[in-house]
Parts: sequence; C-alpha cells; structure tokens
Amino acid sequence: MSAQVIDGKAIARTVQERVSLRSARFLQRHGRRPGLAVVLVGESPASQIYVKKKRDACTAVGIQSFAANFPAACPPEALLAHMDALNGNDAVDGILIQLPLPPQFDTEQIIEAISVAKDVDGFHPYNIGRLALRAPLLRSCTPAGIMTLLAETGISPKGMEAVIVGASNIVGRPMALELLLAGATVTVCHRFTQDLETHVRRAQLLVAAVGKPGLIRGEWIRPGAVVIDVGINRLPDGRLSGDVDFAGASARAAWITPVPGGVGPLTVATLLSNTLDAAERRVGTAHV
Ligand code: NAD
Repeated sequence: MSAQVIDGKAIARTVQERVSLRSARFLQRHGRRPGLAVVLVGESPASQIYVKKKRDACTAVGIQSFAANFPAACPPEALLAHMDALNGNDAVDGILIQLPLPPQFDTEQIIEAISVAKDVDGFHPYNIGRLALRAPLLRSCTPAGIMTLLAETGISPKGMEAVIVGASNIVGRPMALELLLAGATVTVCHRFTQDLETHVRRAQLLVAAVGKPGLIRGEWIRPGAVVIDVGINRLPDGRLSGDVDFAGASARAAWITPVPGGVGPLTVATLLSNTLDAAERRVGTAHV
C-alpha cells in the first residue's frame, strides 16, 4: 500500500477563502475589520517566524492584526496590564500570546488573563472545559485544524481506534477531547507510557505530537491507518521532519500528513477562523 498524502496547504487555502468572505462581510456590516492581537514576548527566532506567519495570514484574509512585542526580561505585570487593555479594546476580537513564554512567566496565569470571548487559541480553562463537556466554543487551533483536515478528506473518526502520542495542553489533551467528541475510542500515550509500539500498532487513526523525529517507526503502523504527524523537528541538515518515519509509514498507511505542509497550515487557518467566530459572536451575528 502507498498512502495518499493529505495536502494541508490546499485544505488551509479553502479554509482561508471562507474566512476572507466572512471577513469582508463583517467589514461591510460593522464598518471595521475583525481584529487579532498577536503578542510576542522575547526574541526567540522560531517564535518570531511563527508570529510573522500569523500576522501575514491576517493581512491576507482581511483581519486587522495588532502587534505587541515585549522584551524577554519584561515583568509579568506589564504583560498582564497589556492583556487588560486588549480585553477592553473593542477593535480587538481575538488575543494570541505566542508560546512558550520566558521562564519568569506563569503561563497559566497569562492564559487565564485573556477574556474567554477573545481566547482564539482556545487554551483558556473555560474553553477547554467547554470542549470537555461537549459544548465547544473557541477550540484549540491545532486539534481543531486536524478535525478539519479529517473532515475535508472525508474521514470520520466515529468508532475508530484512535491513538494520540503526546499529552500536552496545546495538542495531545485537546486532541483527545476532539476525537472523543467525534465518537472515536481514544488512547493517549505520553512519556511514561510503557510499550508505545503496542499502542501504535492498534491505531486506525494515529496522531503523533511529541517533538522527536523518527519516534514512530514505519513498521508499527497498522495497515490502512490514518497517520497525522503534528511534530515539527529541525534535523541537523536543516530539513524539517515530523515524529513519524514518513517513508516507512507511507508504505502501510492509507492516509498520511507530510511535514511540512500537513497540520501546520491548518493551525494558522484555524486561528483565523476562530478570530471570525469570536468577532461575530462579540457583535451578535454568529451563525447568520
Ligand atoms: P510538549 O513537549 O509540550 O509535549 C510533548 C509530549 O510528548 C508530552 O506529553 C510527553 O509526555 C510526550 N512524550 C515525550 N517523549 C515521549 C515518548 N518517548 N513516547 C511517548 N510520548 C512522549 O510538545 P507540544 O507542544 O505538544 O508539541 C509536540 C510537537 O508538535 C513539537 O514537535 C511541536 O513543534 C509540534 N507542534 C506542531 C504544531 C503544528 O501546528 N504543526 C503545533 C503545536 C506543536
């Protein structure tokens, strides 16, 4: 078997086209563009690249982006005061803080300072709680983006044996909640899991989100599986790789996402889509 490659870039383009239309309609009705504040703390080159991508993506779909850059050594109070100002700013519909934050910050405290109505990353305990209770509002971008990838590819997780490798707050855990909501039987593996291989071999739907290149070996993949590789790892030769042995897995899977060009573009597209959801809900025109 040779897996079909899921083209995340093409699916993300479709999502962004829908966002552009909603954005234009929002401007027409409300006399302003939807607004997204993108906050960067520190000078990490990787974070700078991600933030630039998000700001550029906003421009492309007609969302006004509000930039704020704080030095790595800034006191947490300064960032919290800025959050307050953004929460009270009517032109700002969504607030995103690029993670990870420098070590002096209590990440949970900063996330919880974002108004739940503007939490377009979907990391606030309120929004995670809504997802856990089967009534999602703003959904974490990477897991929600993966659900879009699956839906647009015609794959329904209902009844599937789904295995997630990685249990972080931003990917693995909300991914488990998304798949549970979609009717999959979900196993979550993490650094203390014994015998990872046995779990992976059972997976009809595998989501790998660890950050270790080659952790998931090709021969572990169940024939006909759907393989979603979230990992982004920079190899010594400069190339990007996921967590899954792509060539080996492709020989056994039915569907597989590449790295780059798989999950990543959907994360950004979902952020834009969440911003429109937040904007429409704030002005009371959601679902029209
Ligand atoms: P994290 O470091 O917060 O979490 C990693 C998880 O992997 C932890 O739950 C840990 O227990 C688990 N783990 C570590 N070693 C393991 C092992 N040997 N076996 C099983 N589980 C193990 O990472 P994260 O923020 O969730 O990101 C994971 C990867 O996904 C990274 O490569 C990151 O760059 C990438 N990522 C990609 C996107 C995207 O849009 N494509 C978004 C977020 C993160």
